[in-house]
Amino acid sequence: MDGEGFTEEVIKLAGEEIRTCIQCGTCSSSCSTAHLMDNSIRKLIRLVLEGRKREALASESIWLCTSCLLCTVRCPRGIRPKAVVSALRNICEREGISSRDASFERVFMDQIRSRGRVSEVLLSAAYALRNPDAAVPIMEMGIELLSRGKVSLDPGMVKGMDEIQRIFREFENE
Ligand code: SF4
Ligand code: SF4
Repeated sequence: MDGEGFTEEVIKLAGEEIRTCIQCGTCSSSCSTAHLMDNSIRKLIRLVLEGRKREALASESIWLCTSCLLCTVRCPRGIRPKAVVSALRNICEREGISSRDASFERVFMDQIRSRGRVSEVLLSAAYALRNPDAAVPIMEMGIELLSRGKVSLDPGMVKGMDEIQRIFREFENE
C-alpha cells in the first residue's frame, strides 16, 4: 500500500483531523526529543499527507517519540501527532521494519530503571556518547536549553523506586 492508500490507512488509525494540518510546527517546537529526530513530527505528518510511505517508515523519529503528548495537547487543529507516530509504528511492525538504532531505547530504559523518570539532559548526553555523529547538534541544543533554564541537570528521582525495580525484575524473569 503506497501513496493515497498509505495516507488513508494512517488517517484511519490516527484521525481525520490530520487532513487539516497547517504545518505550523507547534508540535515540533514542543517535542521533547525533536533535537534527536531526523524528521520533525511536523514533517512526518507532511510525509503522510503526501503519501510518501517509504520516507515516513524509514524515519528514525518514529522510534524516538517518548509519548509525552505535548504535541497533541498543543496542536491548534486538534490533531494527535502522537497517534500518527503510533500508526506508523504499527505499520512498521506489520511490515517487519524496526529501528536501525536501538541505543536510544536502551538509554531511555536505563534512566527509568535508575531514577523512575527521564532527564532530557542526561538522555541527550548518553545518546550523544553512543552516537558521535549526533553529538555536536545535541550539545549545542543542550547548552541553549540549559542557559534558558528550560531543562535541569538534576531531574530527581520518583517515589516508589522499589516498585519500578520490581517491575523490571519481573520482565527480565519472563
Ligand atoms: S501543531 Fe498540528 S497543525 Fe501544526 S504542524 Fe503540528 S500537527 Fe500540523
Ligand atoms: S508525543 Fe512524541 S512526537 Fe509528540 S511531543 Fe512527545 S515525543 Fe514528540
